[in-house]
Amino acid sequence: MPAPLLDSFGRLHDNLRISVTDRCNIRCYYCMPEHAVEFVPRSEILSFEEIERFARIAVRLGITKLRLTGGEPLLRRDLAGLVARLGAIEGVRDLALTTNGVLLAGQAEALYRAGLRRINVHLDTLDRERFLSITRRDELGRILEGIEACRRLGFQPIKINAVAVKNLAEPDIVPLARFGRERGIEIRYIEFMPLDAQGIWDRDKVLLAGDIVATLSREICPLIEVPDQDPRAPASQYRFSDGIGSIGFIASVSQPFCLNCNRIRLTADGHLRYCLFALEEFGVKGLLRGGATDGEIEALIRSTVEKKWLGHEINQGRFTPPPRPMYSIGG
Ligand code: SF4
Repeated sequence: MPAPLLDSFGRLHDNLRISVTDRCNIRCYYCMPEHAVEFVPRSEILSFEEIERFARIAVRLGITKLRLTGGEPLLRRDLAGLVARLGAIEGVRDLALTTNGVLLAGQAEALYRAGLRRINVHLDTLDRERFLSITRRDELGRILEGIEACRRLGFQPIKINAVAVKNLAEPDIVPLARFGRERGIEIRYIEFMPLDAQGIWDRDKVLLAGDIVATLSREICPLIEVPDQDPRAPASQYRFSDGIGSIGFIASVSQPFCLNCNRIRLTADGHLRYCLFALEEFGVKGLLRGGATDGEIEALIRSTVEKKWLGHEINQGRFTPPPRPMYSIGG
């Protein structure tokens, strides 16, 4: 049995996020510019065979959770095929997808048949005009259709990830929570992080999780923190006191959770990152395409985890944004 994937702080790593593309079919203003976005050439993007081989090696080292991300992962043709491949790897206990939902209605059935059950849909508002101003695309209708398709098929859990930007997201907080309560969908509010391509992030633009708890408790009913939560899960969980619905908060800025981090990330162009905010990354593609043995790839995974820092430095004076924006790392 190989030694567990521990970093120098003793954190066990069992969660691999796999970005399958940096391309996206919407343009969230807090993520990427509207025009002239430079994407990685297709030839530099890992193939499904390469992703599967890397995942198989990582699972042998103790990775049990895989999440597919992007850019927008449903832009990769036959993503359901990759889901089936990864789901068939012995040792994978949890397989999930994060999508913006625009192409979901047309692919939900194939993804479900391929074995996917957990899905997170990124959606900041239910208002068409506001959606248009945030994403610069008129796609809200298709996303809502996609969510309904997932409900009909029986995806569980379905979660909605909403980025909470201050002085923008406030009108959407309560409508989203009501939407989730009515449909048994967990809404996760994500604090705005300094990962945007245009450097617009500012601490004053972060709508804090605590403020959202106060708003929902006032406007709907009190939120109660769920006891005995998995400390390694990125979201802190709350339930409404009337028993209807739950809410999650990914409060990376105000309540960092790095001390229990269990995640590593593979970028679409084949780089391994030990942290979303890492200032260094390690090439995998060259090994995969250069005839490296599984052992050499294992060694790279281990050394990457061993080099992992304690956590992001957003709240420290020396914070430097990573050289890659969010869409080319993956959520
Ligand atoms: S910021 Fe980095 S170390 Fe912290 S939880 Fe996220 S990935 Fe882990």
